[in-house]
Amino acid sequence: MAAQTQKGTHSPAQEIAPLVKGLRDGDISALSRAITLVESTKKEHEEMAQAILQQCMDPDRDTLRIGITGIPGVGKSTFIERFGKLLTGMGKKLAVLTVDPTSSSSKGSILGDKTRMQELVMDPNAFIRPSPSGNALGGVTRKTRESIVLLEAAGYDTIIVETVGVGQSETAVHDMVDFFVLLKIAGAGDELQGIKRGIMEMAHAIVINKADGSNVKKTIQAVGEFSRAVALFAPKENGWVPQVMSCSALDNTGIGEVWECISLYMEKALATGYKTQNRQRQQKKWLYQYMEQYVTAHFFQHETIRKMLPQFEEQVMQGKKSSFLAAEELLHLYYQTTAP
Ligand code: GDP
Repeated sequence: MAAQTQKGTHSPAQEIAPLVKGLRDGDISALSRAITLVESTKKEHEEMAQAILQQCMDPDRDTLRIGITGIPGVGKSTFIERFGKLLTGMGKKLAVLTVDPTSSSSKGSILGDKTRMQELVMDPNAFIRPSPSGNALGGVTRKTRESIVLLEAAGYDTIIVETVGVGQSETAVHDMVDFFVLLKIAGAGDELQGIKRGIMEMAHAIVINKADGSNVKKTIQAVGEFSRAVALFAPKENGWVPQVMSCSALDNTGIGEVWECISLYMEKALATGYKTQNRQRQQKKWLYQYMEQYVTAHFFQHETIRKMLPQFEEQVMQGKKSSFLAAEELLHLYYQTTAP
């Protein structure tokens, strides 16, 4: 298709029109192709992907974006399977995306996508897309954000973004969803669970999974402890106090309560205008993040900078020049060679 464009037989708008139409009509193969374009790192694909995205954006579309995080083994995929079936049973169209910066085509991913959520995979009202591979979190999260737009344009009204708690991925997912769920298990210390206080503070709900069998007593205790802990946090700016609850994804208990909690939150967020405000703030934050990434990449890829940087680095390391002065001189060189 790209070759045709270069020969001038088709404009990009003509090329993408059937894809956008197919996607809007809910054609899964058109949707998958559009997501593949978004995930591609090839320049010509990127241009097409941006043109498609531009046509798929609709700020008035009524959708719900839920983030789910938790350490490997906590039960994320079992939970999403149960929760997802509950939602599709209610007539919702659900898409599940994953953010896993450790995923790469050669190494496989922590989330091991293939064997997960087997029931949901078969559900005609669910669409599950494994994490795009990528080394940089920035790249993976951008692809995920853009995929959300495509999925919503294709008629998916509920999007779950799952992340394995690696580094900054929780913050990135929190910044692309309306409601953020932290899944935990009772009995394992927070250190062991890799749960930092900041992540607990980001959560709208903390759900203690595996409340079954001999675990029930420990879970009740954990719910009490976490409820006391979140009561000490400052309330969220919309006045919401994070809810602590328990469930068993295995026995399918407590899953409906999680949905009720999310529904209640969204009802309030819609009535007060908070949902729109929050999404607008997220869009603005991403704009600044992309600009920072773009400017930084442009600077470091610049020929003069690449040539001069090693000697500046050496002078700084030897204590012959201050770090600040070196940075200022390098920026000056950059401006001189990029100025019109
Ligand atoms: P993930 O790595 O967070 O996606 O976790 P999985 O969903 O793959 O679950 C990890 C293990 O915990 C599997 O063996 C599940 O069967 C088990 N598991 C998940 N949810 C529950 C639960 O509610 N109760 C119990 N007892 N086991 C569970």
